[in-house]
Amino acid sequence: MNTNAKLLRLGIRDDDTCFLCGQDQETLEHLFFACRYSREVLALVRARTGIKIPQTNIMGWRLSKRGTKEDKGVMNAVINACIYLIWQQINSCRIDECVLRPSKLVQQLIQDLKIRFFTLIKGNGDGGEYVRKIMAGDEGAS
Ligand SMILES: [Zn+2]
Repeated sequence: MNTNAKLLRLGIRDDDTCFLCGQDQETLEHLFFACRYSREVLALVRARTGIKIPQTNIMGWRLSKRGTKEDKGVMNAVINACIYLIWQQINSCRIDECVLRPSKLVQQLIQDLKIRFFTLIKGNGDGGEYVRKIMAGDEGAS
């Protein structure tokens, strides 16, 4: 992932400030754990899904040992979707200097997850607690 800090080192950019919050140096650690924007996204995801994403380091995201196999699959899908959408926001900042509000981003994330889990759980139980929570209406994450 080409962060602004990396691009500055490579001489491609002359500024390494984070695109999302405009406050600190844009490193991977900053983007996913310290950035105010990302933290707000993760807090909204937690409120909406019940999934607590550890905000310690990137590896920590993948090392959660709790929950059933099914729950872990759901957690991984949610975490991957978060990483993807946050990264997509950064690229959209680079291209047209516009970023979605965290609440809008999470709304989009939940819609994507609903579509994914709908296919996944078809005729296959209800997918467990997290999926039930995600599939339950209420898009009011605003
Ligand atoms: Zn930031």
